[in-house]
Order: sequence, then structure tokens, then C-alpha cells
Amino acid sequence: MKRKKFRLKKSVEKKLKIIGVVLIIIIGIFIFYQVQISSLTKLGYSKEAARNILFQFKKEYVLTVGENKTLNAAFMSSDYNEKYLDQYSKIDYQNHKNLIKNINTLIKKGYSNDNISMILAHGSDKDVTEFAKRDKINYLEEFYSFPYAKLSNYDRYVDYSNETGEDDETTVLAVNLDMDKENYKDPEIVSEFSTDMLVNKHRSLKKDFEPDDLVSIDLKYASDDTQEGSRIAVNAFISMYKAAKKEGFDLVINSSYRSYEEQEETCDTYRDLYGDNYVTNFVALPGFSEHQTGLAFDIGSRNSNVFAESPEYDWVQENAHKYGFIQRFPSKYEAVTGFRAEPWHYRYVGKKIAKYIYEHDITFEEYYVLFLDKNA
Ligand code: ZN
Repeated sequence: MKRKKFRLKKSVEKKLKIIGVVLIIIIGIFIFYQVQISSLTKLGYSKEAARNILFQFKKEYVLTVGENKTLNAAFMSSDYNEKYLDQYSKIDYQNHKNLIKNINTLIKKGYSNDNISMILAHGSDKDVTEFAKRDKINYLEEFYSFPYAKLSNYDRYVDYSNETGEDDETTVLAVNLDMDKENYKDPEIVSEFSTDMLVNKHRSLKKDFEPDDLVSIDLKYASDDTQEGSRIAVNAFISMYKAAKKEGFDLVINSSYRSYEEQEETCDTYRDLYGDNYVTNFVALPGFSEHQTGLAFDIGSRNSNVFAESPEYDWVQENAHKYGFIQRFPSKYEAVTGFRAEPWHYRYVGKKIAKYIYEHDITFEEYYVLFLDKNA
């Protein structure tokens, strides 16, 4: 029994040794693998991408490239194509679902890495997918050197620039503002009240739209006791009024918030007085007037009937932005705003935006395209 037992022990020992060695090898491989993975994850690659990088034997390549979000996306994508490895690493990343698939298509179309980066930067995943279906466009830069140019507007840019002969920058701005479309036709509906909301002949308010904070305006600041406005704009006007008063200028609000129905009446009144043409040029149709936002005031001077010729006008021009107001329809920008000059019409947009618009001498429309357009 003793001998037998001893033999058994010996074979168990042998087996254990083998298991031990195998275990050490497995643990060794595992540690080696983990070290490899972590050398990649440390560079910002996901675990999934790192695994695929190792299995494709591309670790050395990736280490020389370093951190690269597009490469990371490529190694996580089922559309990964080894042929394009070098291009992936040179194309700027965008958080798009079909990023790699679209990059592959655009490479096949003959676009350069820079062009592909440019395309990806100017649209959503869906926009790029659509754009990738078109024939190759040779002079992308003419429109897409402007950061706010939209891929989805390409045909409209081409048409507008052909029809009007405008330069590229004006073209992109105009089309982004829908100025290639007929006034008042198929407008974008603006439904949320905010001090930076844009309402014009292409962006309208619904019939029941009302500012969130409508208050009546004290007779001290207005030409009659029916005037109302957004509280924030009214308070800003009062600050401006007081500052002007201190310097001897006497401002007054002649017109302020107008409901949809009131704008309808305004249109009818002017139509009866001066005809259709006047209304088209000077009065916004109901839903298309900034007065419905409660943020726009027609300002006058208590000392003069013609505001534009009063000393108050000069003061307001120089100082309104300090209180968050802009002159909304300057004469030199009629083509951009779509409205004839209205020296009396001031719009509250907040101090930050007003200051920028004042300092850069642009319209609110341009400001919108540059900074506020969420569809860009
Ligand atoms: Zn007005």
C-alpha cells in the first residue's frame, strides 16, 4: 500500500508540475496581453479598439501614430479597411455613427484627407452620408472654408452664387439664412422665447406665441399706457432711459410688444393708408414681426418728431449696446435683414451679443449664423 501510494503521489506531483507550468505560461501570456492592451489604452484607445489593433498586428503602427480618435474609431468599426489605415490617422475625427464607412466612400471618390476632414466638419452623420453619394466636388474650399457652411446646402450655394453673382461668404450667409427662398414662404417656426431668438421674414412665430415675461411699461417711458414688453428688455430700456436722461436726452417707447392679432391690424392699417408696397417693405406680416417677441421697441425722442434727426438718435446709436440693444435694421444692411432701414427699431439681445454686433458692425442675422444656428 505504501509503495502504491508513493507512486500515486509521484504522478500527482508530475501532473501538478505540468499544470503549474501551463498556468505560469497562461498567466505570463495574460500579463503580456494586458501590458500590450494597456500600452494602447493609455494612449486613449478603447479596450475594444486595442484588442483589434493587437489582432490585426498594428500595434507598432498605432504606437508611432500615438493618440488618434479616428484610428480608434476605425479599429472599433466593422467597416475598417486595412488599405486606408494611413488615411484614417490623418483625417480629423467627428463623432459620427457611420464615420469610417463614410470615410471609405469619400476616399474611393478620390477626396484628399484634408477634403474629407473638411466634409466631415460641415454636417451631421446623415448629411455626410448623403454628401458621400454625390459625384466628387472639386472646389470644396469655396464654400467650406467658412466654418458655418452646411453640407446639406451645397446645391443652394451653387445656385445662389450663380444667380446673384455674390461672393462665397455672402452666398453662404444668405443661404444659411434662407434668403434664397421667397420671403414669408415655408418659414422655420421659432417657438421658444429667449433673448437671442431670431425672427425675420424666414423665421416666424406662431399665432399664440407670447414672451414669457410680458409686463406693461410705465407711462414715464412710453408714449401711451398700452405699451408692453418682455420684462428683461423693459428693465434694460429703463436703465438706458435713465443714463440718457442724465446726459439730457429724453427717450420714449412709441411701440413695443404686439400680439399676432395686433400685427395683423397694423398691416391692415398701413395697407389702407399707403398700399401693399409699403406693407411689403416696411411692415412685417403677422408672425414675422420682432414686436411679437416683446424684445423690440420703436424708440423715439420726446424732443423731436423725427427720431433719426434728433440728438437722442445719435446718443442711442453710440450707447444702446451697453444696455443690450442693437439697431436692428440699419440702412446699409437692408439686403441681409430683408427690411428697409428703421432707425427707430431697437431690439434687446443682451449685452454680450449687442457688444459683439456693435464692435464688429454686423447684423443680428450674421451673428445668428456665426454663433447661434444650432443646425450648423
Ligand atoms: Zn419696430
